Amino acid sequence: MILLFLLAALIPHQVLIATSRGQANIPVTTESGSAAVAAVLLARPLGLTVSLDGAAARVTLGDGAFDFDVGSPFFRYAGAAYPMVGAPYIARDTLFLPLHWLADYVPRLLASRYRWDPWLARLDERPAAPPPPAVAVATPNPITGLRLPHTIVVDPGHGGVDPGNPGLTLPRGITEKDITLGIGKLLRAELVRRGLNVVLTRASDTLIDLASRPLFCRVDCDLFVSIHVNSMPAGRRQKQVNGVETYFVSDAKTEDQKRVAQMENDALRFEPSRAGSGGPLGFILNDLQLNEYLRESARLAELVQGKVAAIHPGEDRGVQQGPFLVLAAARRPSILVETGFATNQKDGAFLGSTEGQRKIALAIADGIVAYLLEFERKIAGTGGGQAR
Ligand SMILES: [Zn+2]
Repeated sequence: MILLFLLAALIPHQVLIATSRGQANIPVTTESGSAAVAAVLLARPLGLTVSLDGAAARVTLGDGAFDFDVGSPFFRYAGAAYPMVGAPYIARDTLFLPLHWLADYVPRLLASRYRWDPWLARLDERPAAPPPPAVAVATPNPITGLRLPHTIVVDPGHGGVDPGNPGLTLPRGITEKDITLGIGKLLRAELVRRGLNVVLTRASDTLIDLASRPLFCRVDCDLFVSIHVNSMPAGRRQKQVNGVETYFVSDAKTEDQKRVAQMENDALRFEPSRAGSGGPLGFILNDLQLNEYLRESARLAELVQGKVAAIHPGEDRGVQQGPFLVLAAARRPSILVETGFATNQKDGAFLGSTEGQRKIALAIADGIVAYLLEFERKIAGTGGGQAR
C-alpha cells in the first residue's frame, strides 16, 4: 500500500514537452489505473504520427516506428518487444499511450534525440544534428577558389523575330539580339573555363518567350543572368546617355527604371498568345518581395555592376531595380545587365567589337564568382558555426 502511494506520488499530473518549436503541457491521466497520455496531444509538439489498424497502432517518432496493440502491455521496436507499465487503450475515440513508454523508453531508444527529466516531468527534444559541412571537405577549384558545384543560367536577351533595340550606333545590320548572344556565348565559355556549369537560354538566333526563360533556372540552378543592350528614346539626351547598369527585380522607383523595364518587357508583343494579357508580374512580385532572393539578387547585382563598370568606357550607372518579367519568376538570385547604350557612339563601338564583348563577359564572370565565393563563405558560416 505504501509502495502504491509512492508510485502515485511520482506520477506527474502533466508532462512538459520542450522542443525547438516550443513547449507544450500534456495532461497525464490515470483513468485506466496506470499513467497514460493521449497520443493526439503528442502529435504537434513531438511531430509524432499515429496510424490505427484495428487493434494495431503504429506510432512514428523521428526515425523510429513503435508498434502497439491496444490492450497489450508490450510494444515492438526495431525487431524487439518491450514490456510496459500499463497498456495502450482507446477512450473517447482517442488512443492513449502509457506514460512509461514516453518517459522511459523514448529517451532510452532514441537517446540521441530525447532526454527525460523525472523531477521536472519534462521531455526535451534536442535539435537535429546539423548536416556535415560539405564545404569544409571539398577541395577548392584552383582557378576560382569555389568548393561547391554551381550552375548559372545565362540569358541572352531577345532573338529571332524580336531584334531588341535596333542600335543606332551599332555596326551596320547588327541589333541588340546579336550583341546579347555574342556576350552570352563568351560568358558561357569563360564560366565553363572556370569550372562552372552553364545553361544558355538560347545559343542561336531564336526567340524564347519571356516567361519560359526563367524556367531554365529551376532545381539545378544557382543564378540567373540576363544580358541586354540599353537605348535612349529620341530627344535631347538620346546620344549623350551612356554606360552600364545592372538591375534586380523589384518595383521601379524612377522614370528611367520604368522605361528600361517597359522596353525589355515589350518582347511580350512578339508572343501572340500573351499579347495584352498584362501578365502575372504584379502577383509574382508580391510573392518575391517576401523572398530572400531579392536581397541576394541585389548583392549579385552590386558585385557584377562593380566589375563591368571598371572595364566599361561609359559611365557607372549603378545598381537599379525594375519590374522585369524575365527576372520575376526565376526563383533564384537573378539580375539583368544593361551592358551599354546602343544610342551612344562610344558605347555602340565597344559593344559592337569582339574585344568589348569579351571584356564585358570576363567582368560579368568575375562578378558571378565573387558572389558565389561570398555565398559559400556564408553557408560555411552557418553550417560550421564559424563567424562570417
Ligand atoms: Zn533588351
